[in-house]
Amino acid sequence: MHLRKRVLVTGGSGFLGSHLCARLLDEGHEVLCVDNFFSSARANVGELMDNNRFELLRHDVTFPLFVEVDEIYNLACPASPIHYQHDPVQTIKTCVHGAINMLGLAKRLRAKIFQASTSEVYGDPDVHPQPESYWGHVNPNGIRACYDEGKRCAESLFFSYWRQSGLKIKVGRIFNTYGPKMHPNDGRVVSNFIVQALKGEPITIYGDGSQTRSFCYVDDLIECMRRLMDSPDEVTGPVNMGNPGEFTIRELAEKVVALTGSRSKISYEPLPGDDPKQRRPDIGLARELLGWEPKVALDEGLKKTIAYFEGQLAAGLA
Ligand code: NAD
Ligand code: UDP
Ligand code: UDP
Repeated sequence: MHLRKRVLVTGGSGFLGSHLCARLLDEGHEVLCVDNFFSSARANVGELMDNNRFELLRHDVTFPLFVEVDEIYNLACPASPIHYQHDPVQTIKTCVHGAINMLGLAKRLRAKIFQASTSEVYGDPDVHPQPESYWGHVNPNGIRACYDEGKRCAESLFFSYWRQSGLKIKVGRIFNTYGPKMHPNDGRVVSNFIVQALKGEPITIYGDGSQTRSFCYVDDLIECMRRLMDSPDEVTGPVNMGNPGEFTIRELAEKVVALTGSRSKISYEPLPGDDPKQRRPDIGLARELLGWEPKVALDEGLKKTIAYFEGQLAAGLA
């Protein structure tokens, strides 16, 4: 039996945020969802609006926020390269000013705070798989830097507030996660490939498709986030969160085509700058500290995600 808490989720209307809000409500908590709807639609949390323990506030985290809560999950930030590169300066502000404001809020309230960090802190990694002890290989001025360096600075801020003010922090480094409620035009690879396959449009592989990623189903990821938040105070992270199964982008395209029964052809397009060649989490720490490991295999998760997008397309929403 959980104690009821008031929980703030920034970026709560986004892909991961909407699942987290639903999970926290299911556990009986009160949820304050804060979002400026930069990369998500309000419809993502539409089904939560009837719950009287749910509240939605339009707010940009780069501005101060004065509310009263017990715990904070800081997820606000566009995660898709297309979105975070659209306005790189705003992305840096969201990562850095957003973190400062949420840490200031956590400090005033003495509230525990989770930061959605990312595998992008490892950049284009020359250590494989990536353990938390690896410092990364990031281009500080390339097209991904607004996000990568923004998120790295946010981690620095979290650990500085922890050292200087004794804040209770939890830093999770999230690897590529997919599932229902990704925005259909989000631009990330799983949603792109599924929507293209379902519409019979060409599947756009950037580069030769030999680059790898490790894909975690959203339910597994949310379980990991919840375990980290509820772990003892001395567990600060950073902790890798992801599925260690590693696939080339070409393999992913083939799986999506097979699972949808699509007649889409593959179309090879230019590889964007600084695109990491390989990525796979070492999840030894999450196993040891949180007793967590992912349960949903890629084929199973893709089937659920395909079913979601079929529904969206049938309803004219994608
Ligand atoms: P998303 O784009 O679907 O959600 C992000 C949400 O933040 C959106 O609802 C957006 O409108 C909101 N937002 C953006 N800027 C804001 C601002 N200034 N103020 C208030 N709200 C703002 O992305 P997601 O996949 O749900 O990612 C959530 C978090 O997890 C992000 O911080 C992202 O960096 C991190 N993450 C996600 C993944 C992944 O694979 N999904 C991987 C690594 C890290
Ligand atoms: N802040 C906020 N809500 C609060 C408390 C602080 O948004 O409830 C913001 C505040 O505006 C400040 C930032 O968090 O810009 C950092 O706060 P901190 O107390 O660390 O620094 P200071 O106020 O001394 O600059
Ligand atoms: N990608 C692709 N086609 C697409 C979208 C992405 O080949 O339509 C590639 C992209 O170049 C990258 C990988 O898929 O190598 C994962 O891209 P995504 O944007 O999902 O995440 P990230 O690069 O941030 O891991």
